[in-house]
Amino acid sequence: MVDDFPWDNDSSSLEAIYRETPIADLIAYHNLGAPHREYTQAQLLVGMCMDNRLQLRIPKNFAFIMRAAGANFRGLEFQMSFAIGFGGARTIALIGHDLCGMSGLSARKEAFIEGLVDGAGWERQDAEQHFEKYASRFEIGDPVEFTRAQAHHIRQHFPALVVAPMIYRVTDQLLYMINETPDDDASR
Ligand SMILES: [Zn+2]
Repeated sequence: MVDDFPWDNDSSSLEAIYRETPIADLIAYHNLGAPHREYTQAQLLVGMCMDNRLQLRIPKNFAFIMRAAGANFRGLEFQMSFAIGFGGARTIALIGHDLCGMSGLSARKEAFIEGLVDGAGWERQDAEQHFEKYASRFEIGDPVEFTRAQAHHIRQHFPALVVAPMIYRVTDQLLYMINETPDDDASR
């Protein structure tokens, strides 16, 4: 997985398409602690997981933030369109993360069911059916691969936007660009 992160906190190695964009600013703020500038309008739409361990260090007004389990925005395109069409965002940072609970869901099945039964007042059978109905649909697999593929999908949906797939590494709380090799470019 480390091979997917070519960027080592040195903004000079940021891919040319992201230089001078809000993606470079996001990295400067979050990873490098750059002083916060004042914004009156959002520059960026961030899509990230709901996981409580993820906390971006960014200025007020800098970004719209959509959070969904697994940073999976399938079916939420209209909310993205809102941030873009009405809110004026022209750049999207799509941020997956390591240690994501939506990766490997089947291993969490029993805890998931027990949590709903014990905490939410569900009947066990209902909780089991709920899991079985939706788990495969929301399973993201490898977070890096998932985020890379989703960036590809979102670029097709919003062709004029800059869409940057990134990973938030829980262990060091930093953002990393996901490597998109020329092979990936060819299949775009
Ligand atoms: Zn997650």
